[in-house]
Amino acid sequence: MTIVGHLINGEIRTDAERLQDVFNPATGLATKQVALATKATVEEAIEAAQAAFPAWRNTPVGKRAAVMFRFKALLEQHSDTICKMIGEEHGKIGHDAAGELQRGLENVEYACGVAELLKGEHSRNVGPGIDSWSEFQPLGVVAGITPFNFPAMVPLWMYPMAIACGNTFVLKPSERDPSSTLFIAQLLKEAGLPDGVMNVVNGDKVAVDTLLTDERVKAVSFVGSTPIAEYIYSTANANGKRCQALGGAKNHAIVMPDADMDNAVNQLLGAAFGSSGERCMALSVAVAVGDEAADALVSKLKEAMKPLKVGAYSDSSNDFGPVITRQHQEKVVGYINSAEADGATIVVDGRNPQVAGYEDGFFVGATLIDNVTTAMNSYQEEIFGPVLQVVRASSMEEAMQMINDHEYGNGTCIFTRDGEAARYFSDHIEVGMVGINVPLPVPVSYHSFGGWKRSLFGDLHAYGPDAVRFYTKRKTITQRWPSSGVREGVSFSFPS
Ligand code: NAD
Repeated sequence: MTIVGHLINGEIRTDAERLQDVFNPATGLATKQVALATKATVEEAIEAAQAAFPAWRNTPVGKRAAVMFRFKALLEQHSDTICKMIGEEHGKIGHDAAGELQRGLENVEYACGVAELLKGEHSRNVGPGIDSWSEFQPLGVVAGITPFNFPAMVPLWMYPMAIACGNTFVLKPSERDPSSTLFIAQLLKEAGLPDGVMNVVNGDKVAVDTLLTDERVKAVSFVGSTPIAEYIYSTANANGKRCQALGGAKNHAIVMPDADMDNAVNQLLGAAFGSSGERCMALSVAVAVGDEAADALVSKLKEAMKPLKVGAYSDSSNDFGPVITRQHQEKVVGYINSAEADGATIVVDGRNPQVAGYEDGFFVGATLIDNVTTAMNSYQEEIFGPVLQVVRASSMEEAMQMINDHEYGNGTCIFTRDGEAARYFSDHIEVGMVGINVPLPVPVSYHSFGGWKRSLFGDLHAYGPDAVRFYTKRKTITQRWPSSGVREGVSFSFPS
């Protein structure tokens, strides 16, 4: 069976003391194995990154950007291969994988402009004959730890900008769908990146803990579930590292009585069920304001869900694919069971989908649950599956309070025709990314991505302008070149 290995100092390494199966979630069969790195293997990757840092840091910024331009072209050239790899291991349908890759690629495009972004700040004559400027220097070895649900895009949020800023990188991707991530990283060599600047170690907690505690690693970017994000953030901080750790979510959409209901239904379908709901920005709760709006929404959703098709990635007429593992399938079904047991109404039941030819796949069909209350487990916790829950609120204030009281604050959306209501919502909602009639308000690559509350630990968001700040440290220089013959007197007062 093929072993997915590591990329260390420009070489693929498949030596492994421990291996883990990688599944095709549509068939339920193990198709590959992934090497789980030992501490020593991770230390080799860190060593390679450390050794590559001085030369890469001193490589002119235009040359670093040129690597990113070539990398972008290679990603486009190999997009079919990459999407197929994503489909085979993650399960998402070809059109969805292409969307993921495109959004990742846009981060490479942003990194192509790194020379502009690193220009710094300059002030002339801040005192007699004194000039002052701030420049942004790379940190050194930076680590990234990424989740299964975007094996191409989320790593591309991190290392293109980190590397373009002059850092070297060690990436620990998800062990559940590692092939596309490793393949993409290998393209950087072809793009002209020197060996050792980009390294990939596959693995689990052993690899992560090594990255978190090794003093040569200066910063850690993490994306994954909240309990692990919290652990990563506190451990990285305790070890003196800069850290940004993005966690889980529960994204609500408020549906106002004046909304264009047909449009809201279409938007909700894609945002709730696309990628089987395995998106940190998936809309998993619709809060309908008023019973009339709720009844209309539920009946329209029920009708619109009839033609939805769940199936294998290779058939592009499918709307979404399986969930990632058997264990996760059971967990999602468990949440539907618990909502039912708690008194909610299962309007469309996806617990036993029939997918001809893929009877052993990890499928859950699109599920709609009405009369959900905030006390239910299925409401409080992240399900990360194709399940849309409807909660009924009597007013917009009540709906907003619900969102503000939730522990997560990643994304949210309001469907309305009322500009004043939309403006009030965006001003007062305690969530990091807000959509007005936009169901998945994932910021474009030149804005930054991040939630509030327990959806993000750290100060700086991912990609965009915040990434430039996260992957560099500010140095401020104050300089005077006295004219010849001018001698300064001694002064003991604070310079002013
Ligand atoms: P996960 O937290 O299980 O895993 C993420 C990474 O952490 C993986 O590389 C994994 O190997 C590692 N990891 C897992 N357990 C660990 C442990 N005990 N110690 C150290 N490292 C560990 O997340 P996942 O299931 O791969 O991804 C889904 C989650 O990610 C969801 O909660 C989703 O909301 C979240 N997510 C968030 C964002 C965001 O931007 N906020 C984006 C994508 C996914």
